[in-house]
Amino acid sequence: MQCIDRIADLRRAVKAARQDGRKIGLVPTMGALHRGHAALIAQAAEDSCFTVVSIFINPAQFGPNEDLDLYPRTLERDLQVAAEAGADLVFAPVAAEIYPSGFNTWVEVGGSLTDCLCGAFRPGHFRGVATIVLKLFNMTDPDQAYFGEKDYQQLQVVRRFVQDLNLPLKIMPLPTVREADGLAMSSRNKYLSPEERSVAPWLYKALRAAAEAATSGEGDIHAIRCHALEIIASQPALQLEYLEIVDSESLQPLHELCPGAVMLAAARLGNTRLIDNIKLI
Ligand code: AMP
Repeated sequence: MQCIDRIADLRRAVKAARQDGRKIGLVPTMGALHRGHAALIAQAAEDSCFTVVSIFINPAQFGPNEDLDLYPRTLERDLQVAAEAGADLVFAPVAAEIYPSGFNTWVEVGGSLTDCLCGAFRPGHFRGVATIVLKLFNMTDPDQAYFGEKDYQQLQVVRRFVQDLNLPLKIMPLPTVREADGLAMSSRNKYLSPEERSVAPWLYKALRAAAEAATSGEGDIHAIRCHALEIIASQPALQLEYLEIVDSESLQPLHELCPGAVMLAAARLGNTRLIDNIKLI
């Protein structure tokens, strides 16, 4: 597996792989790789892609009071995880390679997808995400790019601009990989104290209880939501930011349960922000 930090080298490697008849698969990450990332990499490799993993902690998607400086940086281990999962190349640039001085162009997906849910609590976050993801697409020119459903709103934002800007690639979504107790794997889980770690799975427990109610016939969207809210309220350390039932594509709130209903939630636990989601029906 190659590890490079220059855009020119990335373009050269991708061009060579294409000349060998390979299709290109991109897995964008911010590093601190875990089994969730490994599943995306393994899928790209299984799809016979020349598999490029980008590792870049994108400053543009962090707010001024967020955890940019604290975000875990574990490149040596990440290279091992990426190689074991089947990556062909890791692209791990420094910020100046991606945002040279004078950089001043942004990708902004319209409000209805980005003002709500995480976007309401992290102003500018999805502008940073859309900008870096489009830049990585332009640098790598992938046939397929792999994203986790764990970051559900991010996935919809990426799908939107890929469609809106006529980008010739396929977005490949993969289900959330979880710890044995249900907690969605996340690089930020490293921040949790042992006590917080024992509370963290309750976010998913609440979502699961809501999904179980929906599949066993509860049709009242308000009752389903209240059920999840009660479970979260039983864990006072979980400070809920939002818990909404929305349409899976538009992310707009639903007033009736219908196919494509997804419940999305975010909560703070100490200094850590957890997000998760579940399909209801
Ligand atoms: P990140 O490094 O957190 O920016 O995530 C990089 C990619 O990995 C994104 O597409 C995430 O949705 C995906 N991802 C993160 N955690 C998980 C998980 N637990 N299961 C599946 N995919 C994940």
